[in-house]
Amino acid sequence: MHWIFVGASTIASQHMIGAVRAQTGADVSWVVSGSADRVQRYAQAHEIAHSTTSLQEALADDTASCVYISSTNEKHHAQAIAAIEAGKHVLCEKPLGLSLDEAQEMVSAAERRGTVFATNHHLRCSGSHRAVRNLVASGGIGRVLSVRIFHAVHLPENLQGWRINDASAGGGVIPDITVHDADVARFLLGEDPIEVVAQLATSGMGQGVEDSCMSVWTMPSGAMVMSHESFTHPFAGSGLEVHGTEGSIVAKGVMTQLPVGTITLNNADGFRNIPYSAHSLYEQGVLDFISAVEGNGSPAATGSDGIKSLAVALAVREAAQTGQKVGIDYGAFA
Ligand code: NDP
Repeated sequence: MHWIFVGASTIASQHMIGAVRAQTGADVSWVVSGSADRVQRYAQAHEIAHSTTSLQEALADDTASCVYISSTNEKHHAQAIAAIEAGKHVLCEKPLGLSLDEAQEMVSAAERRGTVFATNHHLRCSGSHRAVRNLVASGGIGRVLSVRIFHAVHLPENLQGWRINDASAGGGVIPDITVHDADVARFLLGEDPIEVVAQLATSGMGQGVEDSCMSVWTMPSGAMVMSHESFTHPFAGSGLEVHGTEGSIVAKGVMTQLPVGTITLNNADGFRNIPYSAHSLYEQGVLDFISAVEGNGSPAATGSDGIKSLAVALAVREAAQTGQKVGIDYGAFA
């Protein structure tokens, strides 16, 4: 299975090229970038056979059936539509686009063309998040009362470009991290937020975009979700908590790209560590995507999941900017 990588990005070099190559019979054949110099150097550094600045040139390769898009956020929509029209299966980075209209067009285009379209929400691929979800779904903590997500990190210097200073490229902590946390809450609880209140801040890194956000979401079941994202917290650590009528789950250090962290269940019997599989999050995501392409099941996060996480993130931004409670309309994808 040959892949075209669109975007000579950090996430591709750090995780996704390796995740594709870890699959039997899969390799990255093309890398596409806006810069002729960079793309050649990138291809050489990562031993990718073909490099180009022309997406159409890469898409014309009939031996490549899958496309992974990890360009800056404002490019995802046009690149995904082009790949889908060329008949390719697409794994697209989050956020799918800058607006719900863009995201919905991408998912509809893939439905019409009959290709697989997925969102690279890696956290739901982790053994830790899957273990928490299984515990919640099996009734292990009774009725869920609340979820608290702690995702305030310190953005590494090499990523402090468009994310902190370019709204037109989709910068800001809300499209970058809140969108992941929306997917986490949906994944853990199996329901979609319906209303949000929020506040955002610029606390030392953002230049024209927010670098910090706190929000509270209402779920249809009545459970409350509290979510905190930031680029400016060097020592906070990450985690999530799910509190129910019969127990509480505390997962520390699990809002990351690596299979690390601890999960503890606290209930009437006391504290117990919950084991989980320590597989690579990104390899699992690619494996699930390839299975879907081969006709077995769905990708870990579908296009619809990407629409919904974006809908929550956009509602959070609107709520923070207006100071109003904002309801979420998932449109045809409810
Ligand atoms: P990068 O900033 O590393 O790359 C994004 C684009 O910036 C590249 O496609 C490239 O453009 C350009 N670029 C990269 N490095 C340089 C450089 N040194 N000089 C000039 N231009 C450069 O972004 P990330 O890899 O962090 O993020 C890419 C996408 O992936 C985003 O949509 C982000 O939200 C998502 N992401 C997802 C993660 C996940 O776990 N699911 C984690 C991290 C990011 P060109 O396309 O022209 O080559």
